[in-house]
Amino acid sequence: MSKLEKALSLVDEGRIVELAKELVGMPSVSGEEKRVAHRARDLLEGAELPVELRGGEDRPVVVSTINPEAGRFLAFNGHIDTVPIAVPEAWTRDPFDPVVEGNRLYGRGSCDMKASCGVIIHVMEILNELGVDLSVGAQLVPDEERGGTHGTLLLINEMKRGLIRRPDYVVIGEKSNLKVRVAERGIFRYDIKFHGRATHTCNARVDGVNAVARAARGVIALERHIDKYDPYIGHPVLSVNKIQGGGTVMNQVPAECTFSVDHRMITGETSETIKAEVKETLDKAGEGDPDWSWEFIAEKDEAGKYVHSPPSITGPETELGKAFYKAVPAALDREPELFVEWAGGTDGRHYRYAGIQTIGFGPNGEHAHGPDEFVYVDTLVAQAKVYLALALELEEG
Ligand SMILES: [Zn+2]
Repeated sequence: MSKLEKALSLVDEGRIVELAKELVGMPSVSGEEKRVAHRARDLLEGAELPVELRGGEDRPVVVSTINPEAGRFLAFNGHIDTVPIAVPEAWTRDPFDPVVEGNRLYGRGSCDMKASCGVIIHVMEILNELGVDLSVGAQLVPDEERGGTHGTLLLINEMKRGLIRRPDYVVIGEKSNLKVRVAERGIFRYDIKFHGRATHTCNARVDGVNAVARAARGVIALERHIDKYDPYIGHPVLSVNKIQGGGTVMNQVPAECTFSVDHRMITGETSETIKAEVKETLDKAGEGDPDWSWEFIAEKDEAGKYVHSPPSITGPETELGKAFYKAVPAALDREPELFVEWAGGTDGRHYRYAGIQTIGFGPNGEHAHGPDEFVYVDTLVAQAKVYLALALELEEG
């Protein structure tokens, strides 16, 4: 039996479900991760894995590393916080009493992403038992749902200060439908403020310029599909998500209206190209209107550049990308596919910004952040197999 066959034979669906239930069964809304972090520590310790808690006492980061001295370091990152329940009545099951029904494991955080943290623990158990000439770590973090300051960013700061070892490769266990997620869109947020001229409602057509009506035309013009595409990230997406206009009274034509745009960027887009396209679109929308007046507003940094998070990529041509492209067929006997249809943000961007090769690979499930969230159990098993094949690939490579 090859080492890979041996590793794959050790993957135990029952154990994965057990670990996942332990974590999902414990509420851990962002800010309240302490209990689940301690549970994760106990599970790792119970499996005779080294474990330490870093970061804040109330919001610990759970770190486990085997073979810390080995030549290269592969870390698996998962977040242990979840979003709140929101509307309890919308759930048809107890969100904190995880149950398996057929191939589905239900519960808050099952899909996003505590079941995946269970997979990471199981993979650590197997690699520890098997022995591997590679440093392998589990980095189970709080605070992902609120930006990562107390979780992944804290770890990256500790890496920069030399307090903990910097991984050569990071795998993010967020849902990816067993596809390889090599990139994430960037984020650029800006406001468009329309200017009008206030007057009495009765004079609206005489000397008024209604900023709300102008802004409405601006929103319609901007809210559109953007015909650009990156094979690793997909299309850019923008959405007008807030609008504010008018004054406090109902008998006055509004002189101002501001709407806010959340633009998810792909490669080739910059804050400046986006601003130029907004100008082109709005200039066209206002053609022939002598009172069409608006301004572009976005936060700037000290150097005078617009604040934004650029898109980030660890392509298939990188060492980690190549290893994934071998691991997926080795573990699942099928060709790897790229995950591009929903490239929302994960903690992966923080590692990539720090120059660390980072790829996402995780299970399939539905209703993350919603009622009756679930994960498909067979995809957790497949995830574990790919992680093992990846570790052995990197051990050899
Ligand atoms: Zn998540």
